[in-house]
Amino acid sequence: MQSPLSKNRVFRFAPSPNGLLHLGHALSAILNRDMAAACGGRFLLRIEDIDPARSRPEFEAAIYRDLAWLGLDWERPVRRQSEHLAFYGEALERLKAMGVLYPGFLSRGEVKARVEAHEAAGGVWPRDPDGAPLYPTGERTLDREEALAAIAAGRQHAWRLDMDKARALAPGALDWSEAGEGPRGETGTVAAEPERWGDVILSRPDAPASYHLAVVLDDAAQGVTDVVRGQDLFHATAVHRLLQSLLGLPAPAYRHHGLVPGPDGRKLSKSNEDTGIAAYRERGASPADIRALLAGYGFVLH
Ligand code: GLU
Repeated sequence: MQSPLSKNRVFRFAPSPNGLLHLGHALSAILNRDMAAACGGRFLLRIEDIDPARSRPEFEAAIYRDLAWLGLDWERPVRRQSEHLAFYGEALERLKAMGVLYPGFLSRGEVKARVEAHEAAGGVWPRDPDGAPLYPTGERTLDREEALAAIAAGRQHAWRLDMDKARALAPGALDWSEAGEGPRGETGTVAAEPERWGDVILSRPDAPASYHLAVVLDDAAQGVTDVVRGQDLFHATAVHRLLQSLLGLPAPAYRHHGLVPGPDGRKLSKSNEDTGIAAYRERGASPADIRALLAGYGFVLH
């Protein structure tokens, strides 16, 4: 663990350019920058554009514009995930060599049909912390040669983590240091329960590294010591700790902050343009107004 006053602390704000930044992003970015400034540490911006289908250059440009308008400054060059695909690919190969990945061929529709049939018959299908059904585990034991031949023949697939094997191989206790809190007030040393996510995807043909894989590799490559982000990612930390353990990467300290409520009390979304930082700016708000708004929701900013 880093001493709170260490000048070597490294913070990062890591948005995905798939929509406009909203007040919740402003909160994350300001908290990271302020905490870095308070200890003389570094503040990095990372563009998480790993998913080509959802990332757009205009949203990336909007990120720079909105953060600069908020008065934030970050180190250059900015790391863009799309420029590091070979780096993620190497880690994926290491995991394959460890025998913890398998190709899953079921489409989303096929999984949905199975879940519906199971539930219609009165069964309970396990769900992940976001409420999505876990992927069926039947393909874990598919014949390797056959599976590779199917891939070579062009069959759609995703590389999935065999959660049981991964858990068994990960050395040491899987927990993390939480300075903020989870949705149920979890704080301090939190036990990671990655199995709640089932066999997560680590790579698809169209997005060679998943968010989970890219985020842990980048945090390690950039020497990030402190991950400060929204509570919506609290449970994902369990998967991140598992991957860090498998890949021999250091664990940063985590601080998950509360989410800014939307106008209707629901979660803010990037698709709701009214609550975007740019929309506030266009309506004449100042950066100080944004801080005041966040303080009004009870977030402590300095
Ligand atoms: N790129 C993620 C997002 O936009 C955040 C990643 C992180 O902070 O770990 O939601």
